[in-house]
Amino acid sequence: MKNMPKELKTILNEMCSRVNANPEEIDFKSKDWYLKYTWTEEEQDDFIKWLAGFLHTNNNARKLFNIIWLENNMKKCKKCGSKNIISIEYFYSKNIPDEHLYDGISEFRCQDCGFRIGRWSGRELKGDDFERKYGL
Ligand SMILES: [Zn+2]
Repeated sequence: MKNMPKELKTILNEMCSRVNANPEEIDFKSKDWYLKYTWTEEEQDDFIKWLAGFLHTNNNARKLFNIIWLENNMKKCKKCGSKNIISIEYFYSKNIPDEHLYDGISEFRCQDCGFRIGRWSGRELKGDDFERKYGL
């Protein structure tokens, strides 16, 4: 856990405390460490609620998850499978209110079929639609 980002440590510590595991004793490099612990569906739902709250109030944790999400979801276009994907940063535009401009990627666009997806919301964007800042 030494080189792990602080936010990921917080999440793992919370998970571990819910299954009575000591995160310092877990070998996270082993392939099946997570199979040694179980929780009920109710406990899982409760953890998901906790995680949603944590991500909602912690910008760094949200950024970390965005990176993981992006790496998994926008390598290929969901519609046509093309890898010809570009990242779009919104600049001052008549179509996008100032409060939704963001200094970084707001959406992804497939150069082959035109499919667009919001960076935070993961929803498809059509026509004049745009990604709200942080997907909110
Ligand atoms: Zn496409």
